[in-house]
Amino acid sequence: MSHPTPADGPTDAPTDAPTDALVIGGGPAGLQAALTLGRIHRSAVLVDSGVYRNAPVTHMHNVLTHDGRPPADFRASAREQLAPYDVEVLAGEVVRVAATHGPGEPTRFEATLGDGRTLVARRVVLATGLRDDLPSVPGLDELWGTLAAQCPFCHGHEFSGGHVAVLGAQPQMMHAVGLMNRIAGRLTALTHGAEVDEATGATLAALGAGVVTTPVERFSRDGDVARAHLADGMVIDLAGVFLAPTYRQSAPFAEQLGVHLLESGCVEIDDFGRTSVPGVYAAGDLAHRPAFPMPMPSVIGALAAGQMAGSGLSADALGEDMAAVG
Ligand SMILES: Cc1cc2nc3c(=O)[nH]c(=O)nc-3n(C[C@H](O)[C@H](O)[C@H](O)COP(=O)(O)OP(=O)(O)OC[C@H]3O[C@@H](n4cnc5c(N)ncnc54)[C@H](O)[C@@H]3O)c2cc1C
Repeated sequence: MSHPTPADGPTDAPTDAPTDALVIGGGPAGLQAALTLGRIHRSAVLVDSGVYRNAPVTHMHNVLTHDGRPPADFRASAREQLAPYDVEVLAGEVVRVAATHGPGEPTRFEATLGDGRTLVARRVVLATGLRDDLPSVPGLDELWGTLAAQCPFCHGHEFSGGHVAVLGAQPQMMHAVGLMNRIAGRLTALTHGAEVDEATGATLAALGAGVVTTPVERFSRDGDVARAHLADGMVIDLAGVFLAPTYRQSAPFAEQLGVHLLESGCVEIDDFGRTSVPGVYAAGDLAHRPAFPMPMPSVIGALAAGQMAGSGLSADALGEDMAAVG
C-alpha cells in the first residue's frame, strides 16, 4: 500500500494524546468530517493510508468551484485548511479498531496502525471508502479513470461527440446509454457475450445505440483512443468506455466493529452518519442511508456526508458531556 508523500499531506508524527474523534480516511469524507470537528473545537486525529478511490483520475468533475481540478491538489488544499484546528493528520494504515472499556468507564475506541502505533479516541468516524473490481477484461485497468469510467456525470462530457461504448448489459448500463445519448456522437452497447431481449434491443435502438454481443477479448490504448478487440477479430476505436464496477469495502472496520451493513454491502447510517454501533460514525462512499439502494459516490456527496457525521458526532459528544455535568 503506498503512502502519501510529504507534498501530498500528512506528517509521520505519532501521538498518544487522547482525542475526541479518530477519523479513518483522508479522502473528501474524512477531511470534511475532521474540518467540521475542528471548527467546533473537538480534537481529532485523521489517519490516511494514501490510497484514494479516484487516484487514477487526473481531473475530477461535477464538483462546483473545483470542476476539472486534480484530486491531489484538492486534498492538499483541504489539509492546509485543517491546519488552524486541533486536527492531527497522520500517514499510516489502521489495521484494527476495537471498542474497549474498563468497568464503569465509557466506551473508547482503540486503533492499531500497521507500524504498531496505537490511538485511543472517544468516538470513531469510518471514511475509508470503497474499492472497484472491474469486469475481467484484459487492458481495462490501464484505461480506468481516463478512457474508462463509471459515471457519465463525472466523465461523460470529456467524450463529447465521440464514439462511446457501454460495457455490459446490467440495468445501470442501460441507464448509462440513456445519459450518454445526449453527449456521444455514436453509441455502442458492448454486451460482452450477453444476449439482449427484444424490449431492451428496442430501447437501445430508440436511443440510437448499436448492439455488439461478441465478447471483448481485450482493450488497448492508443493515445486518446480506447481500442476494443473483439473475439471475432473486429476492432472498435472508442473515445471512451463506461462500465459498472463491483464495489467492495476497502477496510475491515465495519466487520471488526460489528456495524450493520445494508444489502449493497455498505454501512447503514442515519441522517447524521451514525451507524448501528454507538460511537461509530461513517461517511462517504462506504456508507449510505437505507433510502438509497446503493452508494451514490461523488466528491460532493462524500463532503456532505463527512459534514453530517462530524455534526452527529459533535451532538452526541455534547449530550454525553452535558449528562456528565448533571
Ligand atoms: C475512476 C473514478 C473517477 C471518479 N471521478 C469523480 C469525479 O470526477 N467527480 C466526483 O464527484 N466523483 C468522482 N469519483 C467518485 C469519488 O472519487 C468518490 O466518491 C470519493 O472519492 C469518495 O470519497 P471518500 O472520502 O468516501 O473515499 P476515498 O476518496 O476513497 O478515501 C478513502 C480514504 O480512506 C483511506 N483508508 C482506507 N483504508 C484505510 C486504512 N486501513 N487506514 C487508514 N486509511 C485508510 C484511504 O487512504 C483514503 O484516504 C470517481 C471515482 C472513480 C472510481
